[in-house]
Amino acid sequence: MVNTQKTLLTDNMYCLGIESTADDFGVGITKSNGEILANTVESYIPIEGGIHPREAARHHAEVANKTLFQALTDAKIKPKDLTVIAFSMGPGLGPCLRTGATVARTLAAYLQIPLIGVNHSIAHIEIGKLKTGVTDPVTLYASGGNTMVTAFEFKRYRVFGETLDIALGNCLDVFGRQAGLKSQKNLPLGAAIEQLARKGETLITLPYVVKGMDLSLSGLLTAAITQLQKGNHTLEDTCYSLQEHAFAMVTEVTERALAHTEKKEVLLTGGVAANKRLQEMLRAVTEEHDAKFNVVPQKFATDNGAMIAWTGILAYTHGIVTPVDESYVKLRWRVDRADVPWIN
Ligand code: AMP
Ligand code: MG
Repeated sequence: MVNTQKTLLTDNMYCLGIESTADDFGVGITKSNGEILANTVESYIPIEGGIHPREAARHHAEVANKTLFQALTDAKIKPKDLTVIAFSMGPGLGPCLRTGATVARTLAAYLQIPLIGVNHSIAHIEIGKLKTGVTDPVTLYASGGNTMVTAFEFKRYRVFGETLDIALGNCLDVFGRQAGLKSQKNLPLGAAIEQLARKGETLITLPYVVKGMDLSLSGLLTAAITQLQKGNHTLEDTCYSLQEHAFAMVTEVTERALAHTEKKEVLLTGGVAANKRLQEMLRAVTEEHDAKFNVVPQKFATDNGAMIAWTGILAYTHGIVTPVDESYVKLRWRVDRADVPWIN
């Protein structure tokens, strides 16, 4: 709900943000001047296979209490100091989103303070702007569940290109699991593939699918797995070739959006932003267009509560609140369907 009459601005507001769209449960606390006081994340690591939504949601319910306490302790504030509660309202996995939303509603009701449902993808862009200082970028947001190229035009973040099937991070994760790699706390599968890819020498030709401004990664993934199973190439060469093809596709789409919009900044965010080879490719095309390349620091690029808290501040100070009876989660909430009254 947008109340355009009301624009609140004070330096002393504290927003607690809850992130729970997929495998991460995060709680962040942000001040209205942009200071981040806490950013605690607990990640669910499946024993086997990909993220099981109900198992991840159970994990989130189990860690919610300690994560909240940790964030309040780190921020050195009491619950009564909070001005507003924000939560990831979508897009994401239903059971995971609902767990975070329930915690947020409970807190807001108990503390008798406003609740704000935040678009998760927009939060990635806004924290990126806050942390890098960019103001009007073309953003490549590439994570475990999302791959899209967006930019602000005509009052909204518009999607210029996106994956037609699986997300870039998911593509890497599925390949990694097929290759027998194990996800670890400090070494996500995408990072393990990056390490192996650095030792690759021979580029294997794999499917490269860009359709208009969109891209498709599932054929590439299947072909890379098939190559692996045939055993004609080393794992290092296959990782290298998978990365080269997938990253070239997202880079091509980003470059086209940059050429079309004539923006002067590119922002890379999402968990896959940590990848040095992806950064290198994007930087090269960005600079060819005389634009400035920026990458979000890793702890704010992966899913986190601070970005939800910061976007909650932006929304609240521009009159957005979410009444409890409108706070149902939106599993497929696109960026171009979300109001962003804080941008002119
Ligand atoms: P997120 O969905 O934003 O929490 O990010 C998680 C995704 O980022 C997973 O798919 C990871 O495999 C991927 N990821 C993390 N580090 C890297 C890296 N260095 N290179 C590529 N992908 C990565
Ligand atoms: Mg995640």
